[in-house]
Amino acid sequence: MTANPAGAGLDIAPADRVHIVAVDEDKRMKTCLVVDDSRVVRKVARKILESMDFTCEEAEDGQQAMEVCVRQMPDAILLDWNMPVMTGIEFLRRLRKMTGGDQPRVVFCTTENDLAHIQEALSSGANEYIMKPFDSDIVQTKFAQVGLI
Ligand SMILES: [Mg+2]
Repeated sequence: MTANPAGAGLDIAPADRVHIVAVDEDKRMKTCLVVDDSRVVRKVARKILESMDFTCEEAEDGQQAMEVCVRQMPDAILLDWNMPVMTGIEFLRRLRKMTGGDQPRVVFCTTENDLAHIQEALSSGANEYIMKPFDSDIVQTKFAQVGLI
């Protein structure tokens, strides 16, 4: 997400805008898109992320996630592997080809713990991976590793 350019649309004098925009950018909440076909997993992830001061959006599959990213690129994406309609890996490959799609930090979530899956995710553009079930500590650790917090 980008800040409102130069305070456009705000009822403030032009001379004050630079300062206000700078404060806004500094305090802006980071956004995380949670992509998972399980409502329970999305709910758990949202709770963890909101406690870390992220604003969350949810998508049930890769296709819905694409639609969210076309509208506005999130700062972070917590991405499931197995989903109907469009899998996580397929979404990830498409995302990285989109304009601005190199920006989000992507943390892949998977129950697949074999090396081949992990390597495939990382070579397709994931920044980190996480094993399910995840908890607050591991999400915070991984988000810190990729520079999100
Ligand atoms: Mg799944």
